[in-house]
Amino acid sequence: MLVMKFGGSSVADAEHIRRAAKIVLDHIDKRPVVVLSAMGDTTDHLLEAAEKAIGDGPISVEFSLEKISETYLGALQGLGLSTLFTPDLRELLSDLATLLSGISLIKELSPKTKDYLVSFGERMSVRLVARYLQSLGVNALPVDAWDAGFVSNSSFTSADLEPESWRSIPDALLPLLEEGILPVVTGFIAKDTKGAITTLGRGGSDLTATMIAAACKAEAAQVWKDVDGILTADPRIVPDARPVSAVTYEEAAELAFFGAQVLHPRAMYPCSKTGTPVLVKNSYNPQAPGSVIGSSLPPDAHHVRAITTRGNITLIDIVSSRMVGQYGFLAEVFSCFAKHRISIDMLATSEVSVSLTVDAAQDIGAAIGEIARIASVEVKTKKAIVTIVGLVSHSSVILESAFGVCASLDIQAEMVSHGASKVNIGFIVDGAEAGAVVRGLHKKFFGGQA
Ligand code: ASP
Ligand code: MG
Repeated sequence: MLVMKFGGSSVADAEHIRRAAKIVLDHIDKRPVVVLSAMGDTTDHLLEAAEKAIGDGPISVEFSLEKISETYLGALQGLGLSTLFTPDLRELLSDLATLLSGISLIKELSPKTKDYLVSFGERMSVRLVARYLQSLGVNALPVDAWDAGFVSNSSFTSADLEPESWRSIPDALLPLLEEGILPVVTGFIAKDTKGAITTLGRGGSDLTATMIAAACKAEAAQVWKDVDGILTADPRIVPDARPVSAVTYEEAAELAFFGAQVLHPRAMYPCSKTGTPVLVKNSYNPQAPGSVIGSSLPPDAHHVRAITTRGNITLIDIVSSRMVGQYGFLAEVFSCFAKHRISIDMLATSEVSVSLTVDAAQDIGAAIGEIARIASVEVKTKKAIVTIVGLVSHSSVILESAFGVCASLDIQAEMVSHGASKVNIGFIVDGAEAGAVVRGLHKKFFGGQA
């Protein structure tokens, strides 16, 4: 058994769906379970539609719905399928219209309603693609995540799967495979124990795929994208970035968190528990080997896997002479951040100071005000984290090269941290300089033009 996941861009229109279906057919003897995202940017469009419905009322509902139904019905037509044979798709579109009018009347969107709303994208995708696979003679069946055994908690918009899913997923899917059915499962969504629809967080269909692969003991989870696997850097920053053949689960999770749009960071968890390989493949170039995410690396692996950067970072320097030989100071600082629900990304401490970074999207005003009462605080905005993901056992060599690159570019690294997961070294630079640093590091570690 094999799990094959196609993200939004891989099912964006009729042409992409044809390509995805061909790849599925090429693997049909492996007994695949297919996992799909909503078509293209449908999830964003659904959220925009709700915002508009709240702001402008019913007229905008019709307008935004037109965009969404055009995507799905347009693909249906492009695939040579008749709407007559997809009553379930039309029914979902009409339920969606009702929901959006409801939102335009009550003018509010709770996290629970939001999850219900975005679930339409994935539910329509699986019906459309399963219908197309059927037209090619495949015994495909659209399956909503809850009928595939996905049970989550009730943390709407970013729910966690309940442990019982490890049993209920194979219980639901394996019998279908036994019957020769190809299940086409909705990514991203689940239901809580009370039966309400939840989502696993944006990009969560990766987690759906890895969870099915791990729970069903599949030979692998394949994640089909539009790049040749995990790249050594963001190709928009480093044009000659190249695919990495193998990375560990920990490295992949770090890469996902620190700005490489590889996979959802939480998606690594199920397969790392069972040792199930996750393959990142290119649907435009299926013959390319892609990247394998697994528990170990080949013995000849390079000591740096990739270089990433994440912008919009705020650096907070907290200095207090009270820290010297004292206990409880750091606890006070952190409990203040916790109280204001501010998440900290990177951290470095010395005897009298602590520097930490937060995402600029978070409102830190109140927390900073409180901390300023016990220490002097300096806030620096528009920073970026540059992260070198690789073997920290080679950290001296990596750091030496990294600082050499910064020095040659006359750029100051303001804070350095070894990730707790022991696979990354991160440092902070000015946001405007991050691109140059990444290019310089890439050239240093991987050669090629900078
Ligand atoms: N459709 C959802 C999103 O855009 C889930 C996914 O694509 O994985 O976030
Ligand atoms: Mg998507």
